[in-house]
Amino acid sequence: MKLAVMAGDGIGPEVMNEALKVLNTLSSLDSGFQLEMEELPWSSAYYMETGRMMPEGALDYLRHFDAILFGAIGDARVPDEVTIWDLIMPIRKQFQQYVNVRPVKQLKGVASPLDTKAPIDFVVFRENAEGEYSHMGGRMYDQTDQEMAVQTTVMTKAGIRRLSDYGFAYARKHGKKTVTSATKSNAIIHTMKLWDDVIREVGQEYPDIQLSSVYIDALAAYFINRPESFEVVIASNLFGDILTDLGAGLVGGLGLSPSANLNPEGRFPSMFEPIHGSAPDISGKGMANPVAQIWSAALMLEHNGRPDLSDIVMNGMEAVLAEQDVRTPDLGGKSSTADMGDAIIRAIHAQT
Ligand code: NAD
Ligand code: MN
Repeated sequence: MKLAVMAGDGIGPEVMNEALKVLNTLSSLDSGFQLEMEELPWSSAYYMETGRMMPEGALDYLRHFDAILFGAIGDARVPDEVTIWDLIMPIRKQFQQYVNVRPVKQLKGVASPLDTKAPIDFVVFRENAEGEYSHMGGRMYDQTDQEMAVQTTVMTKAGIRRLSDYGFAYARKHGKKTVTSATKSNAIIHTMKLWDDVIREVGQEYPDIQLSSVYIDALAAYFINRPESFEVVIASNLFGDILTDLGAGLVGGLGLSPSANLNPEGRFPSMFEPIHGSAPDISGKGMANPVAQIWSAALMLEHNGRPDLSDIVMNGMEAVLAEQDVRTPDLGGKSSTADMGDAIIRAIHAQT
């Protein structure tokens, strides 16, 4: 497996270090798992040195990897729109990583702040290549009282169809009975009505799956009232982003929530990253939780043909969280980032 590693900023390199320790452990335990990793320094520090987030030709260079493992990006000295739009967005969009898989799953040993009847375990498929996160629009009449801004949402039938088809197919394959679509077509009447229409059409190809279209505002409340009732949620780029940080809060926090940016056809590499950012408030202190990053690496193994290794990593993380008193401060413990990574590695060794 030829892997591009971009640790990024803040806690990115701290949690990435633990994920790489885990991957190297797997490769030392399994001679059939050969890992060729290249660490790429593209980050805010790189920007401050060169004036660019990534060098010219970076995307052509990345194309030849099997996968990209990404940490997090964001630094107070660089505007957030630069770090996002000159690094993450071009990768997601150019590599047609149109499905952002975001599990909202309570790991064994992790309590939810909610008192639910059953463990929370669903997955959000967020549209990742178009939607509200567009570059189109502009500001006018600067410095006057009439100053205004317009930001265009772009939704296409093809874009909505491929995302929702992925969600329904996943539901069928995994024996799920329901798909919930996050909408707001009562107020956003052009793009969101297209969203509803296309999803209804795709849903008709899956008569075994029950589709519910729910207004995003009410859905936010249902995430709190009955999170255990969801199985598969499909959402636009913005709605999916917000819903999954809410989801993370339900299952132990941002330190535990991974994601996969998939190009399902495999024409381009997919990218795996925690949903959290660079967490400047805790960076440099060795207290970041590495689980979201390690779980993202597990999603990468699953997607790249090694679901067996992915299971070993998941079991290792759950063994630590359920059976040991090793916890980073976000989970109420005193352990360091490296303590947590080391405990997970011991739990991986214990299985082999
Ligand atoms: P954030 O996710 O970085 O942090 C939010 C809160 O969660 C903070 O209190 C932080 O300490 C905590 N947290 C996050 N990850 C954690 C972990 N692994 N362990 C323990 N606690 C953790 O979001 P923010 O503060 O809104 O943004 C900070 C920077 O990150 C900004 O520059 C933003 O643009 C950027 N950002 C980047 C990405 C990305 O790289 N894909 C995603 C979101 C935000
Ligand atoms: Mn986000």
